[in-house]
Amino acid sequence: MVANASDATRRRQSQNAATDRATIHARLGNTPVLVATELLRDALREQYQVRSRAITGQVYHVDLLVDRAGVVTTTCDCLAGSTDRCCWHRAAARLCHHDAIAFPSVIAYRLRPKVTRQPAPITAAMLSGKAR
Ligand SMILES: [Zn+2]
Repeated sequence: MVANASDATRRRQSQNAATDRATIHARLGNTPVLVATELLRDALREQYQVRSRAITGQVYHVDLLVDRAGVVTTTCDCLAGSTDRCCWHRAAARLCHHDAIAFPSVIAYRLRPKVTRQPAPITAAMLSGKAR
């Protein structure tokens, strides 16, 4: 990490690192499980359970919201997530939401958000405009 990087740059680096970790865990078979979804008045809500990689048997809960503008926000009840730091559990849920990784679901259907524009980019390549 660059010492004088701006907060936005540091945040983006943390998000990219979390996405990398989530991708690695998915390849190792630790994928989130979609446990609930619902259409709210102005958003789609998805709830995921993500197994801890550090604590055997620990499961974290990620709440993912997509508003009508396609902006995705997530919260996680792990230690990092509860202090609004970037955790890989939230990144993993975002990857699932965007169908970037395969994941199991305990519900038999999938709701789609009512967005009026493209979802926000989630990878460095997407952020730079080199990939969609
Ligand atoms: Zn977390």
